[in-house]
Amino acid sequence: MSGDILVSYRDCPICLKLLFEPVSTLCGHTFCLLCLERFILTSNHTLQCPICREDLTYLHSTSSKHLKANSILHNLFRQEYVKEYDIRQSETENERKNIIKKRLIIGNRHQLLSYDYDYTRHEWTLFIKFENDHQKDVGQFIKQIIVNLHPTFVPSQIILDKPPFRLTRIGWAVFNISLSIEFHAKWNKSDLVTNWFLSFSDADTQKMMEIEFQKSTDNTTNNTVL
Ligand SMILES: [Zn+2]
Ligand SMILES: [Zn+2]
Repeated sequence: MSGDILVSYRDCPICLKLLFEPVSTLCGHTFCLLCLERFILTSNHTLQCPICREDLTYLHSTSSKHLKANSILHNLFRQEYVKEYDIRQSETENERKNIIKKRLIIGNRHQLLSYDYDYTRHEWTLFIKFENDHQKDVGQFIKQIIVNLHPTFVPSQIILDKPPFRLTRIGWAVFNISLSIEFHAKWNKSDLVTNWFLSFSDADTQKMMEIEFQKSTDNTTNNTVL
């Protein structure tokens, strides 16, 4: 009966354990929610189903908090494999602690220094930081940031290699700043290439991006970084 079908589908193709918080992709394959989240995080460019290789790139644009377990399967498994499901729950909770979510803030401050018909001078400070974090903590994640300014600046490329990640310049106009954010190797994360369009409004202007870091779970020593 249904138990047989359950047995043949009970294990996650990624971790090979009992599916916990099962979630299905559009190709119809089912994984643990955490396994799928990690799979998305560690696939930098192309994202293909590990079973059928169907394109799952759409998941890149889905914030992982929008992925939800299938509640029918979740309750079915919880009933059918009471003890094992409990164990999987505590395992998953522990593993989840290794996922660190940060909100990256990119923006600029601005001050009008002088104004006349020919020559208006603005002082601006670009900043890249994590919401609610001390600047020194940011340095545990971000190794360096390559900032490309308008070519009229000399030099136009600046490397910020330690926190606080800020850059102050004086100029006369707004322009698009391109940024390449490099993370420390232990996070196993590709560079984040983004941009910031300078703003000369009175208030600070900024944008926010959610970034997830996967703490290394191998048996090396740096498990107590945070
Ligand atoms: Zn799994
Ligand atoms: Zn598939």
